[in-house]
Amino acid sequence: MKKIGIIGAGISGLYIANLFKKNPKYQVSIFDKKNSLNLNEGYGVQLSTNSVKFLNEIGFNKLEKNEKFNPEKINFYSKKDQDKICELDISRFNLNDCKYTTLKRSTLINFLKKDLEDLIKTNFSVSRIEQEQEKIKLIFENKEFHECDYLIISDGVFSKSRNLVSNKKIQPKYNDTLAIRGMIPAKNIIDKKNILLFLGSNFHHVIYPVSPSGDLNLIAIMKYKLSVEEQKNYSLFSDKSFIQKILDNIPQENKEFFSNLKELKIFPVFVSDNFFEAKNKNIYFIGDAFFAFPPSFAQGASQSIEGAHELFSSIENNSNTYFFKNRVNKTKMVNNRSKLNQFAFHLSNPLIAYFRNIFLKKIVRNKKFLESYLGKIYR
Ligand SMILES: Cc1cc2nc3c(=O)[nH]c(=O)nc-3n(C[C@H](O)[C@H](O)[C@H](O)COP(=O)(O)OP(=O)(O)OC[C@H]3O[C@@H](n4cnc5c(N)ncnc54)[C@H](O)[C@@H]3O)c2cc1C
Repeated sequence: MKKIGIIGAGISGLYIANLFKKNPKYQVSIFDKKNSLNLNEGYGVQLSTNSVKFLNEIGFNKLEKNEKFNPEKINFYSKKDQDKICELDISRFNLNDCKYTTLKRSTLINFLKKDLEDLIKTNFSVSRIEQEQEKIKLIFENKEFHECDYLIISDGVFSKSRNLVSNKKIQPKYNDTLAIRGMIPAKNIIDKKNILLFLGSNFHHVIYPVSPSGDLNLIAIMKYKLSVEEQKNYSLFSDKSFIQKILDNIPQENKEFFSNLKELKIFPVFVSDNFFEAKNKNIYFIGDAFFAFPPSFAQGASQSIEGAHELFSSIENNSNTYFFKNRVNKTKMVNNRSKLNQFAFHLSNPLIAYFRNIFLKKIVRNKKFLESYLGKIYR
């Protein structure tokens, strides 16, 4: 029996643990530094069909219907909801029980961990990783240790484990954007079934359904410079005067949605700027520890699941050498689209934004373009 050690119980670590758990050839242990898994009750996540397909392999299609939503369109607006630019039919990529899905993050995490309760060890923060021949030894800050044959590192964008197995320090970089998150009451929204995307100057926000109560998830991305000290100062993001300063910075025409926001949270967005391949045998990275994208293509979680599925298959088929190369190729495609989306969504010159809107109206109806820009990622 092969022992699988997984560091980090986020979306990617939990998903791959489910795949290994189904197979009696493997014994799985998952370690997380937190004392309980972060459920962030209200906040949402979008999952495109590429990840829903893989989630269905572990029973996602059986999740209660009222816990997940299947928006059919992305409605693009400039500024207010009276100014609709166009709509993109995302349901064209759906298959029978494999549909573009939005839901609460807590629903997804609860689903992923429900069969793993006895395998997850919380309060386990890794402090050393040693490898001797075929065995990998994990030493934790609580002085416990664990041996495994394969180590899967899924401890997120700030991955400490990545630095433990590499000689150089690898740090994500600040994306020059802040994320503003919250829940918005249904009564304020004209279309409660679809994804609404509002484009502003150096700012965009997205609203989509996540909750049976009807409340919707709002996530905004604001261009914002932070000094190196500010980036490291986490207390800043719960400081009332800083939060007020950020809210005051929201472009006037986008402000109407932000007065009724519940569970407001502001945090800096960090992204990867390079790939790191462990030279050690049988040590792999998935999820944000492998690569973290700008959030403007909503692909981080979906790619985490897709990458985890690829790694599982390559370990199963003993073809591990291709995993890194294949993942880098797909990651580059997604990263380029994420950066391009952010650039296009944030245009500040009104004339250029006017031409962008004309262009958007055309491309959302162009089948060839949609197949190439979205189909290559979603299928
Ligand atoms: C604003 C924003 C909006 C987004 N929206 C979407 C979206 O709509 N759709 C989408 O697909 N993606 C989205 N993403 C991206 C997505 O959230 C991430 O890509 C995804 O959650 C990454 O999952 P993960 O499992 O790799 O890492 P994480 O979810 O970060 O999990 C890492 C886990 O590792 C643990 N850990 C950390 N350090 C250690 C350690 N030293 N020892 C042990 N455990 C440790 C942590 O406690 C955590 O549980 C968004 C991202 C942002 C910033």
